[in-house]
Amino acid sequence: MSENFDVAIVGGGVVGCAVARELSRYQLKVVVLERASDVARGTSGKNSGVVHTGINVPVGSVKGKYNVRGAEIFEQYCEDLNVPFERCGKVIVALTEDQIPDLEVLKEKGESIGVKQLEIIDHDRLKEMEPNIEGAGAINVPTAAIACPYTLNIALAESSAASGVEFMLDTPVTGISGEQGDFELETPNGNVSASLIVNSAGLFADKIARMVGVTRWRIWPCRGEYLILDKSVGGMINSMVYPVPPKGGAGLGIHITPTTDGNILLGPSADYTNDGDDVRTTAKIRRQLLAEAGEFLPGLAPRHVITAYSGMRPKLVPVSVGGFGDFVVEEVPEALGVMQLVGIESPGLTAAPAIAEDVTAWALERIPAEKNPGFKKTWSSVRRTREEELEVIDDLIGEDSDYGEIMCRCEMVTKKEIVDSINNELDATSLNAIKYRSRATMGRCQGGFCGPRIVDLLLENGKSPESLTLKGGGSWLFMGTTEDLRAEGKALRAGAK
Ligand SMILES: Cc1cc2nc3c(=O)[nH]c(=O)nc-3n(C[C@H](O)[C@H](O)[C@H](O)COP(=O)(O)OP(=O)(O)OC[C@H]3O[C@@H](n4cnc5c(N)ncnc54)[C@H](O)[C@@H]3O)c2cc1C
Repeated sequence: MSENFDVAIVGGGVVGCAVARELSRYQLKVVVLERASDVARGTSGKNSGVVHTGINVPVGSVKGKYNVRGAEIFEQYCEDLNVPFERCGKVIVALTEDQIPDLEVLKEKGESIGVKQLEIIDHDRLKEMEPNIEGAGAINVPTAAIACPYTLNIALAESSAASGVEFMLDTPVTGISGEQGDFELETPNGNVSASLIVNSAGLFADKIARMVGVTRWRIWPCRGEYLILDKSVGGMINSMVYPVPPKGGAGLGIHITPTTDGNILLGPSADYTNDGDDVRTTAKIRRQLLAEAGEFLPGLAPRHVITAYSGMRPKLVPVSVGGFGDFVVEEVPEALGVMQLVGIESPGLTAAPAIAEDVTAWALERIPAEKNPGFKKTWSSVRRTREEELEVIDDLIGEDSDYGEIMCRCEMVTKKEIVDSINNELDATSLNAIKYRSRATMGRCQGGFCGPRIVDLLLENGKSPESLTLKGGGSWLFMGTTEDLRAEGKALRAGAK
């Protein structure tokens, strides 16, 4: 017997989880089906974390509408969910005089979409604002902001779960049958039935669309690699530094972006690939990112890099066309009862709260529901001790001595934060689930110091060594005891003789 839900959301990225949170305001039975072992493991955890103003999106586009509305409500959203947010502003820099006319065009476009306080600044003013940045001039965009993308995704999911939404992790949707009011979603963990479906499967949204008979879209994955710089050089910039967007390019160009944790990101590159899961990072792009960012930031050195990652754009346009497609946010006639959220590339993080509002209105038109008295308007996944005043930390240690033990020295993460991350609302158990909730292992040593201590804590909290993974699936941390492995090696060598 399959479970019956009002709405099944396919995909636990920021879009699916924003929809889940918005739906959880009402007495609806909602499930999120996510193929990975945690939320935020797709594109939503691997982007620039920029809350875009809308200056770069086409006037009159679907993405323009959701970008502007999303940016309007984003700050409050982050405040309610205890997500780091900073209105640090952005400068779009013309490296040479001949790019200055491009700034004028961008400014006009931004103003026509409603972006406020745009101002063209000359070289001297740019130097005042950003002493380490080279450029002939820039547009100053003071309303642009940054937020922590994965903390937002996780907070959306956990607050929804606490408000009554069910999360099924490690649960890929492999087929869909039925029709509006009576859909059946097949998964390896059993079938799930639902009256409505929200397709927010990101890079695989075209495949989910095909499962309900809609063949009009194809996603072209386009990888964007990043480098993360050490916090010790986090002060090299004060705001985001963007180039003039390359004409016909697949992205906005290599930018230099501060994070809410004090690091700097360089990237992203833009390379089309055939595989949405191919999130590798490469030496070639590392060199390219350092060279391109170095034109703006001459003080940049390879030793500043602590690690790399990449995120994948779900593009609706192939490399031969180039540029950007528009967002699809619609129910199409071939599949009534399914809200298709397809091609949600940048600025999808910014737009997610606004998309969620419209998807919820759509669901309520079909299934009217009363307000949910159990809705959690505010939420805090893990209390970040490092952001508290010393007196507050003293009080916290008085309440629980685990607040007094630093386990991750690079990021100053306490034992209490790691314990709270282990006991998360979604029951996500991998090492990465703890990393993205607490920031432990994200610093200069990349887990060299705290990694083994976190493992000890997991074992103390009742996990068995055989169950521990880096990121779910077959990413086991331990292959067996040293004795077992020795015996296995001996047997193999004996067999080879
Ligand atoms: C390099 C880069 C930089 C970006 N920078 C910004 C930025 O600065 N600001 C901004 O606003 N936007 C930015 N974006 C865009 C933003 O990250 C995305 O628009 C947004 O994360 C999309 O969210 P999503 O939930 O639709 O997709 P995803 O986060 O990809 O979530 C989809 C989920 O569906 C799951 N899934 C897939 N198939 C199945 C299945 N069959 N069954 C169950 N689950 C499934 C996946 O595992 C995944 O978790 C950037 C994107 C990239 C790639």
